[in-house]
Amino acid sequence: MRELSRLILIGPPGAGKGTQAQRLAAELDGLHLSTGDLFRANVRNETPLGLKAKGYMDRGELVPDDVVLAMVEDKLAATFPPGRTARFVLDGFPRTVVQAEALDQMLMRRGELLEQVFLLDVPRAELMRRLAGRLTCSACGKVAPASDPVRTHCPACGGLFAVRPDDRPETVTRRLEVYEAQTAPVVDYYRKDGRLAVIDGMGDVADVAQRLAAGVGAAASGGPA
Ligand code: AMP
Repeated sequence: MRELSRLILIGPPGAGKGTQAQRLAAELDGLHLSTGDLFRANVRNETPLGLKAKGYMDRGELVPDDVVLAMVEDKLAATFPPGRTARFVLDGFPRTVVQAEALDQMLMRRGELLEQVFLLDVPRAELMRRLAGRLTCSACGKVAPASDPVRTHCPACGGLFAVRPDDRPETVTRRLEVYEAQTAPVVDYYRKDGRLAVIDGMGDVADVAQRLAAGVGAAASGGPA
C-alpha cells in the first residue's frame, strides 16, 4: 500500500471540511492548510493581505485567484523547503478551476503530485441547518462542536465563541451560490482525471471521519474509494 501525502477536502460551506481536515492532517502527520483560516488570521492581525481579503470575505465572495495563489505558494514554500516532501491536507483551496490548475503546476515544479481529492457530500438543507447559529472561536477559529453543551469560551485556547461574520444568513446564501458557480466545476476537474472520491458527509464527526479513513485506505491501495 502506498502512503498518501497530498490530499484535498472539498465541499460546500458547512460540509465539515475544517473539522475533518484537521483530524486527517494530524493522522497523516501533515500540514492542515485552510486558506479561510489563513485569511481570518490576516484579517485579525490587520495585515495588508487581510485588508485586501476582508471585503470579499464579508460579502461571501471569493478572494481573487492571484491573491490566494501567492499566499498558498508562500505557505507551502515556507513549510516544505526544497528537499522536503510536502505532506498536507488542503481545506477550502482550490475553489476555482484556475486555482486547481495552478496547484497542479505548483506541485509539478516541486516534482510532486496531488494524490486524492475527497468531496464531502451534504445536502443543502443540512448545510443551512449546520451554518445557522454555528459558533466559531474568534481567536483560533475552532468550530464549537454541535454535540457539546453550549459554551462561551473555546476549550482549546480560551478565546470567545461568536458567529462568524460570514455565517450570517444572507452571506451563507451567497456563499452557497458562489460554491455552485465557481467551486462545483473544480469537483468536475478532479472527477474527470480520476482523482475524486465522494464521501457521505452526513452524521456525526466520528462517522464521517471513519468513512474518510476508509476512503484514504482505498485510495492508498489503489482501489475505488
Ligand atoms: P472558508 O473558511 O474556507 O469558508 O473561507 C472563508 C472565506 O475566505 C471565503 O468565503 C472566501 O471569501 C475566502 N477564501 C478562502 N479560501 C479561498 C480560496 N481558495 N479562494 C478564494 N477565496 C477564499
